[in-house]
Amino acid sequence: MVGPVSARQILHVDMDAFYASVEQRDDPALRGKPVIVGGPSLRGVVTAASYEARPFGVRSAMSMAEALRRCPQAIVVAPSFRKYVGASRAVFAIFRRYTPLVEGLSLDEAFLDVTASRSLFGDGETIARRIKDEIRAEVQLTASAGVASSKFVAKIASDLRKPDGLVVVPADDVAGFLAPLPIERMWGMGQKSAPHAHAAGFHTLGDLARATDAQLERAFGNHGPSMGRLARGEDTREVEPERDAQSIGAEETFERDLVRREDLERALLGQSVRVAQRLFGEGLSARAISVKIKYADFVVKTRAMQLAEPVSDTDAIFRAARELLARFDLGKKGVRLTGVAMSKLGPLGEVVTLFPDARLGRGNKLEAAQAALREKFGETSVTRAALLDTPRRRMGLGEARDELRESEHDDRERLTPTRVPRRR
Ligand SMILES: [Mg+2]
Repeated sequence: MVGPVSARQILHVDMDAFYASVEQRDDPALRGKPVIVGGPSLRGVVTAASYEARPFGVRSAMSMAEALRRCPQAIVVAPSFRKYVGASRAVFAIFRRYTPLVEGLSLDEAFLDVTASRSLFGDGETIARRIKDEIRAEVQLTASAGVASSKFVAKIASDLRKPDGLVVVPADDVAGFLAPLPIERMWGMGQKSAPHAHAAGFHTLGDLARATDAQLERAFGNHGPSMGRLARGEDTREVEPERDAQSIGAEETFERDLVRREDLERALLGQSVRVAQRLFGEGLSARAISVKIKYADFVVKTRAMQLAEPVSDTDAIFRAARELLARFDLGKKGVRLTGVAMSKLGPLGEVVTLFPDARLGRGNKLEAAQAALREKFGETSVTRAALLDTPRRRMGLGEARDELRESEHDDRERLTPTRVPRRR
């Protein structure tokens, strides 16, 4: 076992109500008031809510109509992603003063591995405190931080005392720290799956930690055993700086190899939906797309293209992915994996200025509506008809973990890390 002395020091730093806080920072009239960032029409969706709005039950991804029913006095501000990107850059520049090992999960959230930085700057707690202080002094925003020996625990810790929190979990106290936490803290445990977990007798992370792999598999399927390992604090994943959002992607290994084009298209549609959700959640659009295929013989091929205009919605992404699929050699060998990745990322705001009307629009509203539906009915309610028949996946541990990270990004401080494929 890794002891406290040799343990890694991982920080998870997460800005507090990021978009809403930027708006309050820039307009003193908004400070101390319930602020909702989101589309101005009642059909719009809440992108972020200030802490003053949250006691009324306002959450991101909720419909604006519902949010204003709950908090009629809220001030609604249209999102300005350019400002958020600017603040994000300033915050990430502060992170990089302390380590080059910064893995951005979204505009306002990152893992930092500061294990090798301690001789220069002090222990993880000291570094976390300095980062929080510098963010406050230089960017006039607050962040919450978790300090632990793994990503999973650091992420949970940063969420516990929001806003402006700092939670340090000593390496020799990980199991004791995790055990009493409610099952909802487990990655991938959404509104849909939590009741299922309770019904199966799992109420805390400790319940997961004590269960055998067989029990976990019975209760949760393939994901079960990896949840058990995380709940015991076993998480050796490295902080991967190359994830720093040069691209956003989703890929999937199938339970059995696919041959038919329509099955492959269905898989690409599912991946397009996930990629669009990520782009939307992070306020980004993309000007390039690539599709990856791994054949049954493990040969990997990639096809890529530039897009005429920045896109961020499922339909545009899927159209392009299908076009790329046509450039692959199909029908002879089976396909065991497909992936869609978007690159040449820019703020969603650019799309807004270029296409000020319905166009910005339509696609993004669809993503927003889907986000709202997920909020209301859980992750699986928003499944396109074409996806219903997707072949079940075969998943190894790594893939199961990735799958656990696939839930939507948000500003609700849920445990929803995201995935960006590694560049090679
Ligand atoms: Mg945040």
